[in-house]
Amino acid sequence: MSRAKDEEVHLYDAAVVGAGPTGLAAALALNYVGADVVLIGPPPERRDTRSAALLAGSIDMLKAIGAWSRLAEHAAPLRAIRIVDASQSLLKGPDTTFEATELGLEAFGYNIPNTILVDTLYARAKEALSAVVATNVRNLAIGEQLATLELSEGSPVAARLVVGADGRQSLCREAAGISTSKWRYEQSALATDFCHVFPHDDISIELHREAGSVTTVPLPDPHASSLIWVGPTAEIATLMRQDAETFRESLQERLGGLLGRISETGARANFLIAGLTAATLATNRTALIGEAAHILPPIGAQGLNLGLRDAASLADCVAAALRRHDDPGSEEVLAAYRATRHLDVLTRTVGVDLLSRSLLSSFVPIQAARGLVLHGLNALPPLRRMVMRLGLTPPTELPSLMRPAVN
Ligand SMILES: Cc1cc2nc3c(=O)[nH]c(=O)nc-3n(C[C@H](O)[C@H](O)[C@H](O)COP(=O)(O)OP(=O)(O)OC[C@H]3O[C@@H](n4cnc5c(N)ncnc54)[C@H](O)[C@@H]3O)c2cc1C
Repeated sequence: MSRAKDEEVHLYDAAVVGAGPTGLAAALALNYVGADVVLIGPPPERRDTRSAALLAGSIDMLKAIGAWSRLAEHAAPLRAIRIVDASQSLLKGPDTTFEATELGLEAFGYNIPNTILVDTLYARAKEALSAVVATNVRNLAIGEQLATLELSEGSPVAARLVVGADGRQSLCREAAGISTSKWRYEQSALATDFCHVFPHDDISIELHREAGSVTTVPLPDPHASSLIWVGPTAEIATLMRQDAETFRESLQERLGGLLGRISETGARANFLIAGLTAATLATNRTALIGEAAHILPPIGAQGLNLGLRDAASLADCVAAALRRHDDPGSEEVLAAYRATRHLDVLTRTVGVDLLSRSLLSSFVPIQAARGLVLHGLNALPPLRRMVMRLGLTPPTELPSLMRPAVN
């Protein structure tokens, strides 16, 4: 633990900025490896209508940081993923189902409502961390030896390492002088949940049509699922304006009888689909994680899983520095973090971008290629297993906190 000579200013090993899911997980992970951490960010208040499908590594991390025992009862297993090509294309592909058992797994992962995930992590952070400051960072001054964070309320905070988990408009990213590449898809996503008459049988369904996809993801109630409806921004705006009954009918029509009659739909929120990558993941005593570092379209449940891998990898890099009694914000630590994360972030960003563009394309050769791929996946179990593994595992070694605990 680092202490400043001056008794009045406490010098933290790390200041995590942002109490979203990645910031909370990062603060708990850094605390787990022995760093002296302060978490700074307003507590969760907005009701998030989204859920997060979290893969095995993310669940192992939640176990390690002491959150899973409280989340398990709110988490639904994803035992299979069914892809339905409902396009009008003559070249459309067959129904394809990926089963977790084909990989020897009980489930691909678990689906957890975001509000429950963030509230639970925040409660755990308040228990486990010595310092949680429920306010915004207003300004950040990065010096040679440390960074000073000016807060909206209260005294400034000093830390060796700043963890920028402050989302899309990251102040930390800007203060560290990190530029971004951004792009748009002219698409939005509507997120809600709904109740249906047929049980979901722990199966997530992806229904692809021209210009959009509808994905249902099981919730713990066998007759309830989360929904992500992706489509042109104008179409999503119309769906957002519909009253509950009209929306229920729109959804029922769109799902075409899959999951049976829809009895109820929950609160709706929409998200503009965009892409962003930071020019570097770390520099100037600042490491970026989660959406401060990369934004992906919500296809294939990759975004938060990627952000949690950032958090767990950063904890490995800081743990190694602390073992050497080194500065956790040094260029050496930041270089190690950049090196461990580069390939995973690059391959997910490119992969999800290509997938999104192919799903949204009405260009006939692309539709034909998509149909062919689905035929191939249906007919060839080894190819299907390879694609499942690609979706589930990063191209690099999993960070320590994401490896299953050895009993
Ligand atoms: C419709 C939809 C569905 C999705 N489904 C999935 C899924 O199934 N699986 C998956 O893995 N991912 C999914 N994602 C992606 C996932 O939701 C995001 O990756 C995740 O929410 C990003 O979390 P974050 O903590 O990085 O950012 P955020 O959740 O944006 O948190 C940022 C935090 O920083 C705080 N903050 C901002 N500025 C400051 C400041 N100056 N000082 C202090 N605090 C500050 C904010 O208050 C906020 O709490 C989905 C995304 C969408 C849009």
